[in-house]
Amino acid sequence: MAWTSRREWVETTGQGGIAVNRGPSLQSGVRGRFLAAPRGPWATVEDADWLSWTWQQQNRVRTLEEIGSVIRLTDGERHAFGESNRMFRVGITPYYASLMHPTDLECPIRRQSIPTLGELLMSPEDRRDPLAEDADSPVPGITHRYPDRVLFYVTHNCPVYCRFCTRKRKVSDPSMAARFQQLEDGLAYIRANPSIRDVVLSGGDPLSLSDEKLEWIISELRRCAHVEVIRIGSRNLVTLPFRITDAFVDVLRRYQPIYFNTHFNHPRECTLEAFDAAAQLADAGVVIGNQTVLLRGVNDRWEIVKELVHKLLLMRIRPYYLYQCDLAEGLSHFRTPIETGIGIIEKLRGYTSGLAIPQFVVDLPGGGGKVPIGPEYVISHVGRVWRFRNYRNAEFVYVEADGL
Ligand SMILES: *Cc1c(COP(=O)(O)O)cnc(C)c1O
Repeated sequence: MAWTSRREWVETTGQGGIAVNRGPSLQSGVRGRFLAAPRGPWATVEDADWLSWTWQQQNRVRTLEEIGSVIRLTDGERHAFGESNRMFRVGITPYYASLMHPTDLECPIRRQSIPTLGELLMSPEDRRDPLAEDADSPVPGITHRYPDRVLFYVTHNCPVYCRFCTRKRKVSDPSMAARFQQLEDGLAYIRANPSIRDVVLSGGDPLSLSDEKLEWIISELRRCAHVEVIRIGSRNLVTLPFRITDAFVDVLRRYQPIYFNTHFNHPRECTLEAFDAAAQLADAGVVIGNQTVLLRGVNDRWEIVKELVHKLLLMRIRPYYLYQCDLAEGLSHFRTPIETGIGIIEKLRGYTSGLAIPQFVVDLPGGGGKVPIGPEYVISHVGRVWRFRNYRNAEFVYVEADGL
């Protein structure tokens, strides 16, 4: 059965989607603005399967024929599929695929998950490891760049292989699977380095691992007195919200503080299923942030970003970073001028809640790390006198105290 409206979904299933939201935090007024995924060609799949994250994983769309049953592919896409699949596999959960518009070539879900000819183009500035993560890797599976925090890669798998992946040199490649020994070595490195107070679990998508494996990793981290913050970097809220089960949330609840950084790029990804999954995390006290990548033809207009960040706040997700698309291979068709990002921030600052405004950052090629950039509001600074323009371009002066 295809769900055409949220009401039909609720009436037919007798509940609000997968994550049964029992708490007082359920606000039907807000929740009512979110629509369930349409299910498309999977309309006849039983709920028990559709809502199961393992079913979604096992039934990922991988072949040309399968994709052809969801959307009508162009010749270019067919060609790109054959070529790109060898380097960076195609994989899309039925849930995410069902969000695709069947005929619109510009559909933002399609652009993010179906290879195009642009992916085959290498430009001179492209790099295999754009952020030099492997150079800053003291042991396999760890990138230690900043003084007090590390990235810890715990799996190479993801439910959906995003075509703009910065780590496609190893994500999806089975030979890159983090073996048990690699996890042990990563944990040993973290234990041995008391300067590490923040660990970002990454990959791949860490939620591709079982609850048991994740609990083992998280509990080992919690046993390190110097590890204060544990972050999970996961796109499952977007690509496979059914992964956020009661059992998983119970694990997280035991090891607070847990921060969860997810990756919505377009308002169309803000479905009822995603809303309910985020609500479960938030109700367990998990703080959710969002990292968006600016992508040409997907979200490079301020109206789209504004709609996205407003939806995220309704989902109790705080916009954290807006990334300039990096220099990974075959991404030049996705890149926007840096001015585009600055212009988007300029259209938000002052015009909407500060809560909704992410930090626009460029993660510097070669391992320089993230630097924030944004519109310039300082007109001049002479002695104690600072001249500013505000968001409406009016001028204001601030004079510092004398004798500082
Ligand atoms: C992005 C990143 C982090 C986390 O950075 P925050 O600015 O603290 O979110 C840590 N290590 C590496 C290598 C990173 O790229």
